Formats: sequence, C-alpha cells, structure tokens
Amino acid sequence: MAEFRQNPITKEWVIIATERAKRPDQFMAKKDRKQPPAHDPNCVFCPGNEKLTPPEAHRIGGSGEGSDWQVRVVPNKFSALSPTGECVRNYDGLLKRKISGVGIHDVIIETPQHDMTTGLLSPEHVESIIRCYKDRYFAVTTDPRVELVTIFKNHGEAAGTSLEHPHSQLIATPITSPQVRRRLEDALRWYDEFGECLFCQTLRSELADGARVVVETPHFVSVVPYAALSPFHMWIFPRRHMASFGEIQPEEMKDLARNLQETLARLYHGVNNPDFNYTIRTAPSESRYVKYYHWYISIIPRLTRMAGFEIGTGFFINPTIPEENAAYLRAVKLPVAAAA
Ligand SMILES: [Zn+2]
Ligand SMILES: [Zn+2]
Repeated sequence: MAEFRQNPITKEWVIIATERAKRPDQFMAKKDRKQPPAHDPNCVFCPGNEKLTPPEAHRIGGSGEGSDWQVRVVPNKFSALSPTGECVRNYDGLLKRKISGVGIHDVIIETPQHDMTTGLLSPEHVESIIRCYKDRYFAVTTDPRVELVTIFKNHGEAAGTSLEHPHSQLIATPITSPQVRRRLEDALRWYDEFGECLFCQTLRSELADGARVVVETPHFVSVVPYAALSPFHMWIFPRRHMASFGEIQPEEMKDLARNLQETLARLYHGVNNPDFNYTIRTAPSESRYVKYYHWYISIIPRLTRMAGFEIGTGFFINPTIPEENAAYLRAVKLPVAAAA
C-alpha cells in the first residue's frame, strides 16, 4: 500500500507510491539537448561581452572591467523589481492592498565557461560562488527596505531558464512571503513546545538513522528528506545552528562548497545531468539570530511534473522511495577529480 508521509518542517504531506515505485535509475534525465559550446560569442554572459550587461555590482577574480573574472554579479536587465524608489504601502479598503515593487534583483554569473555546471566545477570555484552570495547578501541587507533575501538557481528549461550560461539569482524583497512566514511561525511554535530547534532535531534524527544521508562533510549534511516531494529532492543542512545564511563563516563556506559540489556531482553523474532548481531558504533579516529557525538549501531535480492534483491539493506524489534515492546517489562512482 502507498503511504502518506509528512515533512515536519513544511507540514506538507506526500504520497510515496511504495508499491508502484520506480527504481531510481528509471529517472535518468533524457538528453535530446545539444552539448553547448564552451564559449558562445552571442551569449551576454560569456567573456568578451561584459559591455552587454548592466554595470557590475561585484566580481571575484580579475581587475577592472576585463574578461579575466571568475564570478561576476550584475543587476538583472529584466528585473522584476525596481532598485530605486520608496517602499509605500497602499490599502484601498480591506480588499485591495498594494506595495510598491521595490527590491534588488541580481544575476550571479557563476563561471566564464558557457558549458559548465556546478557538479563539474572545482570545489574552490564553487566556494567563490558562495562567497559572492554572502557578499551580495550583506550588501543588500544594509538596504532598510529589504526584508527577505532569496538566492536560487534554475538549471535547464524544465527548471524555468532558457539561458544556458551557468548563473544563479538573488532577489531581495520588501516583504516576507506568506509561505516563509508560515514556516517561521510553525518553527517558533515547535521551539516553544519542545525547547529545541526543529531543524537541529531533524538533522540529528537523520544522522542517527543514516538511510537518507547523501553527503556528509565536517560542517554540512545533504539528505533526501523523509517526505521528499519528488525523485532526488534533497536538503543541505548546516550542522551548526544558524537562522540566517548571512551567519556562515569562511571555513563553513569552503565546506559548503565541497558538499554542494559533491551532492550535485552525484546528481549529474547518477541521473544524467537533470534540470534542477536550488534555493537557499534563510530567515528574513529581522529574524537573523533566532533560535527556532535554521537555514538550509533545497535542491529539486525536475524529473516529474506538477499537475492538477498537486495544484488542487498541495499533496505531491513521489513515484520513488526516498531511502532508495539516497542509497543510489551514495553509490554513484564519481570521477577522481570531482571526488577529491
Ligand atoms: Zn555564455
Ligand atoms: Zn537549528
């Protein structure tokens, strides 16, 4: 019989199709996509086209405006939000509320190489990307209009991007979304009831069980959640309690780079470079030091589609078994350089 499993952190229920479950290797991403070139002269993010992007907000490597960079951050040319202007709330009666669309929308160009992906980069390079995230996180949170910072990556068309060049994004918004707020409130209630961070407790239980752990490094652990929403859904937790991504220390950034790179390398080699999203779920600025919330990274490979049932109920159906997904990823043989 299939079973419903609940994620204690999101409170979401997932149907794990235990009997009709597919083997993890049946989810190998199909590749009809052409291998992109290492350099595309028409790509605005490729070296040599720096003048085609808005002026840089930040860079790692190289000097001035040259092409010798490692990672570049530029404002999004098609930003959803306006970086200038006041944040004004306007309530017309009870039912029509609006807030001016101010905020910051960055694009982090992760590497000069057009055909690269995180799982193939060196851990040192991934560390530079994470350092960029932290530098920009700090820069945007000095803006008093900013309440929530979301850092995310869309890889591949099924993940919502048509731009091949490896990039991630940061969006700083003047309000916290109801979904994030609800999770904070639930985590606070848990803390009040049990006197401990729900996420620290979840991580401890995952480590004691071991069945869903994918990659363990000194400061981070990646796991397939007990109630994973979809095949190969993974979370990366810092072992040390931190509510905000902004609290990450240099030694931890280096270790996160190792963990994220290896976790994504296992996905790349084990499931044939699937499209995926990842997002850093951090506490809003005002809750930076709270004891009840704990930041983490959620990785969602796009191997199944959301359809009517998911939209209509919020129940997901996972056609694979989380423990089998984790065991499969742990067993993936990595090329020597990526495993080093
Ligand atoms: Zn490019
Ligand atoms: Zn915690």
